[in-house]
Amino acid sequence: MSGARRIAIYGKGGIGKSSTASNVAAACADEGYSVTIIGCDPKSDSSITLLNGRRIPTVMDLIRQKVDLNEENVVYEGYKGVRCVEVGGPEPGVGCAGRGIIVAVTALTKITSVLTESDLVIYDVPGDIVCGGFSAPIQKGLVSEAYILSSGEYMPIYAANNICKGLLKLNMPLSGVICNSRNVPREEEIITEFASGIGSTLVAFIPKDNIVQDCERDGFSVIEKAPDSAIAGVYRRLARAIMNCERKTIPRPMEDASLRELLMIHDTRNKT
Ligand code: ADP
Ligand code: MG
Repeated sequence: MSGARRIAIYGKGGIGKSSTASNVAAACADEGYSVTIIGCDPKSDSSITLLNGRRIPTVMDLIRQKVDLNEENVVYEGYKGVRCVEVGGPEPGVGCAGRGIIVAVTALTKITSVLTESDLVIYDVPGDIVCGGFSAPIQKGLVSEAYILSSGEYMPIYAANNICKGLLKLNMPLSGVICNSRNVPREEEIITEFASGIGSTLVAFIPKDNIVQDCERDGFSVIEKAPDSAIAGVYRRLARAIMNCERKTIPRPMEDASLRELLMIHDTRNKT
């Protein structure tokens, strides 16, 4: 074991952060690690596949209901003892998700030790950099490394580069780029080039496979429901890479022109 990991997973909304986070959590639990997952997205769906489809009360809900927070009403055990917390979000149309994350994370540090006493803590952070929510767990000193998830498509890569700008500002090291495939032509090549462009590496290429959605619909991770599938093997390898990662670097965002060039080449390739 090479030390405890406190990671945040970033990437455009809908790119697969929660699926990846929950499958990595399950794979690490299988290996005997103590794991905590902190869902920071207002969708509060990071832990649902570790809890057989059950939704847990969110920290923001409890705060709104003026319930006293304690470990029992906030931290729930899921698959193989993975500890699950959902921060939740503001009521739609009112309030700010970022502010909620700050409030919830501050409250959490006071009532539970799972944030510091787990082999792996995964923060599943909301999609795009829109507000303070992006940096809340980092600024609280709770995260020590980040991973960026992207496919080879234009928008997720563009978002990934913006995330790098945020990480650079916060002086937060990046441990790698994870490709969650959308079956774009030459996707692995594009994302490898992007990863190297920002001074990082591609740590996993997760294929697009409907089994992820099928398991999710039934309330399970792939690790739990389809442990012998090829994609379960990919998540297991990614989990090991995360637990054993030794190379972290503060990312260097790509210049707009180089990024456009990379994406334009890719666009032409798509059309041929
Ligand atoms: P995010 O948390 O980034 O918003 P999700 O993890 O909720 O994204 O993923 C969005 C959708 O894509 C979900 O329905 C999920 O099941 C599906 N998905 C994620 N990864 C894969 C994959 N590798 N293959 C197929 N579907 C996937
Ligand atoms: Mg999500």
